Amino acid sequence: MLDMRPTCERCARELPADQPGAMICSFECTFCADCVSGPLNETCPNCGGTFVPRPPRPTALLAKYPPRAPGDAAE
Ligand SMILES: [Zn+2]
Ligand SMILES: [Zn+2]
Repeated sequence: MLDMRPTCERCARELPADQPGAMICSFECTFCADCVSGPLNETCPNCGGTFVPRPPRPTALLAKYPPRAPGDAAE
């Protein structure tokens, strides 16, 4: 399952799983659209890959499939 990271890895902006505006690379590195189109120049700084928009998760499914919360030990 897609790893829905809750914040931009660069600027720590909150990226709610049920809202658009997050960008992911093939390794699910997660950044906000502003960082991707600006300082990152469309290239992932972790793996060198390109980004695609992360599809929002329907709000109705968030209760059943919650995104990882900040501070979880799963990192
Ligand atoms: Zn950002
Ligand atoms: Zn990456």
